[in-house]
Amino acid sequence: MTQPTYSIVIPIYNEEDNINEMYRRLTGVMQQLDGECELILVDDGSKDNSLNLMRELHHLDSRVNYLSFARNFGHQVAVTAGLNFVRGKVAIVMDADLQDPPELASSMIEKWQQGYQVVYAQRTSRKKENWFKRLMAYGFYRILRQLADVDIPEDTGDFCLMDRQVVDVLNAMPERNRYIRGLRAWVGFRQTAVKFERDPRFAGEVKYTFGKSLALAISGIVSLSRVPLRIATYLGILSAGVALLMILLVLYWRFSDRTTPLIGFTLITIALFFLGSVQLFCIGILGEYIGRIYEEVKGRPIYTVKEIAGVSPQSNTSVH
Ligand code: UDP
Ligand code: MG
Repeated sequence: MTQPTYSIVIPIYNEEDNINEMYRRLTGVMQQLDGECELILVDDGSKDNSLNLMRELHHLDSRVNYLSFARNFGHQVAVTAGLNFVRGKVAIVMDADLQDPPELASSMIEKWQQGYQVVYAQRTSRKKENWFKRLMAYGFYRILRQLADVDIPEDTGDFCLMDRQVVDVLNAMPERNRYIRGLRAWVGFRQTAVKFERDPRFAGEVKYTFGKSLALAISGIVSLSRVPLRIATYLGILSAGVALLMILLVLYWRFSDRTTPLIGFTLITIALFFLGSVQLFCIGILGEYIGRIYEEVKGRPIYTVKEIAGVSPQSNTSVH
């Protein structure tokens, strides 16, 4: 196959009920495109029939390529891997569950043709997601924006288009703990948004459990900001202030009338718990950063591949 213009990267984890429908919708989109297109499906260690369906699609249609991880490595790693294999002039990243409407790709490509190098999809609404997830997401993106050293657009996920130049830069970044939407904002280049309404899942369960989402959120903050480390200092100052107040209180009591009993044990217990939790909290923050340093230093590959069809890693990648 000749070099395609467009490479569509799709991370897949247990999406057997979505794959065929996704392919059907994508063939519609690919027909409209003015250049050749390849699909890079990344199987993130699915335990269902997903990989078989991917094999079938590959035999049916030479534009469908895939690689399969030896185990589940997580969404961000799957996207990273997909980008390592992109051959096109443009990469488009989208989810397999059709929450990211494939048809939006054509408006993204239009923006690219106007000269933008990163076109990210920005959600205007989240249909049928529960209020808790919506609240958490709303809060998180706003906190991240406050903390991060780079400007991360609100309500954007990994659904985006990236020019070859941007993909090359991302691939060359040796960082192992990858928060793609953060790195994408960090690299710069000409960026713009296209708005869209996030559809509900076509089929299947959400793969991002609360735990995974929280881990992603923490990873996002830690990878883009050092403000949390400073929180330790502020909390230290705060607890010193509280201690000083208490000393003044005791002195006041000592030199004024001593008939009123001092609050004693309660005060000590509260102070103990307060200090204890502040210290644990700060150790936790330190731990997040040290843990990441440890991950980086180990230098293990960030994923292992057990099967690959139709594609090979691009030479300039420094993470694989
Ligand atoms: N996914 C993955 N590995 C995982 C979890 C999810 O590759 O460990 C894929 C999943 O198949 C889907 C995309 O990442 O294509 C987004 O997952 P999901 O729809 O569960 O998350 P949400 O849409 O709620 O962000
Ligand atoms: Mg989804």
